[in-house]
Amino acid sequence: MKRYCYEHEHLMFQEAFRAFLQQEVVPFRDEWREAGIVPREVYLKAGEHGFLIPQAPESLGGIGIDDFRFQQIVAEEIGFCGETGFMPQLHTTMVAPYILNHGSNELKQKYIPKAVSGEYILAVAMTEPDAGSDLSGMRSSAVDMGDYYLLNGTKTYISNGICGDIFVVAARTNPEKPHAISLFVVEGDWQGFRRGVKLNKMGMKSQDTAELFFDNIKVPKENLIGEEGQGFKYLMGGLAKERLICAAWNTGTAEYAFELTKEFVCERKVFGKYLSEMQNTQFKMAELRARFDMAQAFVDTLVANINRGDYDSVAASKAKLLSSELLCDTADEGVQLHGGAGYMDEYPISRVYTDSRITRIFAGTSEIMKLIIARSIFE
Ligand SMILES: Cc1cc2nc3c(=O)[nH]c(=O)nc-3n(C[C@H](O)[C@H](O)[C@H](O)COP(=O)(O)OP(=O)(O)OC[C@H]3O[C@@H](n4cnc5c(N)ncnc54)[C@H](O)[C@@H]3O)c2cc1C
Repeated sequence: MKRYCYEHEHLMFQEAFRAFLQQEVVPFRDEWREAGIVPREVYLKAGEHGFLIPQAPESLGGIGIDDFRFQQIVAEEIGFCGETGFMPQLHTTMVAPYILNHGSNELKQKYIPKAVSGEYILAVAMTEPDAGSDLSGMRSSAVDMGDYYLLNGTKTYISNGICGDIFVVAARTNPEKPHAISLFVVEGDWQGFRRGVKLNKMGMKSQDTAELFFDNIKVPKENLIGEEGQGFKYLMGGLAKERLICAAWNTGTAEYAFELTKEFVCERKVFGKYLSEMQNTQFKMAELRARFDMAQAFVDTLVANINRGDYDSVAASKAKLLSSELLCDTADEGVQLHGGAGYMDEYPISRVYTDSRITRIFAGTSEIMKLIIARSIFE
């Protein structure tokens, strides 16, 4: 399906970012996977080319283009290149906006320019052992000590947990009220900040997911993002973009899985025929293509709506839900059509299969997406 959503400057950006990924990322995928982490140089190089936080104003080092299509392109292309450890989409769309949209000028000046250049790698720390889908179970606390907040607690499953420099951390500032959560900018080299081991995962092997421990960290007052107790509101406010960016990563990755499979079935012969000539293959691929094009059109519409100022978080939840299912189905059918080869690590489709399983879980599980959609139906 031809897409008309991108104009000349978007296509140029897409071409440049794709070329960057082919040169600086794709050749190193195996090495990074082995290491379980990506080198910080890749963020520096991405920053040099203007691929990180392009929405930041020029005064903070960015390009100042508040057009969500650029962020969509970054997420799609990252998905399409098959690398899951390097996460500019997390850095740009899921973390930086907390500081950009709600932080003081001082906070922005202190952290955004170095995040744009890639000198700082960003991460967000919400989830705890007893608080994932239900953040009201959060135990991390930040107690107002007059001159500073005293931060204590544990976070888990944090992407960029090892390589991250700057963390947006959620903590309770009022023990009486479960929703009185505040957000803080915390530096990874502060006293009392400890990183746990890199967690072993079924997929996303080059992504350094980790536990974090906060032991009496003195957080300066000026590192509170926005107002005390308003963290939940800020989190909810960012959800439409966050879920839509997940959907863009899903469509990019699904396209990658689709292309890998198409290539394979056009080359593999069984019973004297190419797999691509068999009706089962054709029907499976046709079904996936139709679902893909429908999902793509929906995501493109929501991105256009966001650019018009329409932040529909229920629609974004629908996009995340269905694009996650689509990606997992595309990876699964892809493995099946590869036969035994699809189960072999050397075939990229097997990695897509394990890498993509996370999308039904992180940034809000599929069940939570359904809850949100159901609430909008029955409220
Ligand atoms: C690889 C990876 C990277 C991650 N990166 C980050 C990160 O960078 N920062 C961060 O803060 N977090 C991160 N997370 C955490 C992620 O967002 C959570 O794992 C996710 O929100 C689910 O929370 P949970 O694991 O506690 O599962 P739970 O909330 O315990 O859910 C368990 C099951 O119960 C279901 N469930 C929960 N509530 C309901 C309900 N009301 N109705 C019906 N079913 C329900 C869920 O859908 C799920 O199936 C990451 C996780 C992973 C695995």
